[in-house]
Amino acid sequence: MVYLDANASEPLRPEARAAVLAALEAPGNPSSVHAAGRAARHRLETAREAISARFGTGTANLVFTSGATEADALAIHGLGAGRRVIIGATEHDAVRAAAPDADILPVDGDGIADLDALERMLASGPPALVCLMLANNETGTIQPVAAAAAICRRHGARLHVDAAQAAGRLPVDLATLGAASLALSSHKLGGPAGAGALLLDAAAAAALAPLIRGGGQERGRRGGTPPLPAIAGFAAACVAAGDAAALAPLREAAETAARAAGAVVIGAAAPRLANTACLALPGVAAETQLMALDLAGIAVSAGAACSSGKVAASHVLAAMGLGELARCAIRVSLPWNAADADIAAFADAYAAMAARLARHAA
Ligand code: PLP
Repeated sequence: MVYLDANASEPLRPEARAAVLAALEAPGNPSSVHAAGRAARHRLETAREAISARFGTGTANLVFTSGATEADALAIHGLGAGRRVIIGATEHDAVRAAAPDADILPVDGDGIADLDALERMLASGPPALVCLMLANNETGTIQPVAAAAAICRRHGARLHVDAAQAAGRLPVDLATLGAASLALSSHKLGGPAGAGALLLDAAAAAALAPLIRGGGQERGRRGGTPPLPAIAGFAAACVAAGDAAALAPLREAAETAARAAGAVVIGAAAPRLANTACLALPGVAAETQLMALDLAGIAVSAGAACSSGKVAASHVLAAMGLGELARCAIRVSLPWNAADADIAAFADAYAAMAARLARHAA
């Protein structure tokens, strides 16, 4: 199989695998006072130091969670109480579902948030919590988060940034971005699923209300015994992940092949993650393309992976005004270990599929 669905889950990095296995072998709960507990606490705090250093905050300002979905929910509930909530139109469902009554910040045809609209929205009304993702999971579009943070600061708003897709692929630093909080996910950067984190600046760390109280772990900000093997793997993956720039020529080759077969590259004019291509084949439903490519041994997806395994219409592509083309778009997302041969196999399979299906669609 050729795996080109990294934005759903990256393949496990060897460094992460080794760290998971080492942690699995060591008994102990970080809350216990005996030697095994202290060793577990050491492992937890070492992971916290590595991740907070990599992403630009202090160890006291990092809360481990089960993943980015929980980190987004913790930020929205824990920092948004009593505030008006504004979210980007292309945010992940992790954000949308946690803020069902939010006001929506529109995006342009390339998926970039309208910062003039943000300025206008913040000019009146109560203090806000704004959620703007750093990179989109379906198109790879990179948002002007630092500029949005400056606007938020001027209006006394907090900015929460979902960096689940950006971390490990772009330089990501909470302090440089100027955001109040940042959500991370282990399995999106080559660690195991089951761990993530919410990183906070000092003011947000002081203000955060917990979602889960339990036994007071994570300084009372997230109750529950932390999953040490997953967290150790998460930290190892954060250290190992460079950025995705080296994948740009491979992504370019995949897009060139797809264009030659009749595809339109969505969001091509915007700054994008180097590993992500969103390809629409006019007249051919995304689901049909997925099945054809799957039969040819190529794993890609249609927009967001969803738990039912069914392909739903993409709110991201709809917000970009793509109309019918949105139903014909697939996402090709290159993993950290993608090779030339993977792209060659994809190009052959895509060309064969397009030739066959476009005939039927015509
Ligand atoms: N945010 C974005 C942008 C994502 O792409 C995803 C996963 O697809 C999530 C949040 C949820 O992450 P997790 O699987 O760690 O809960």
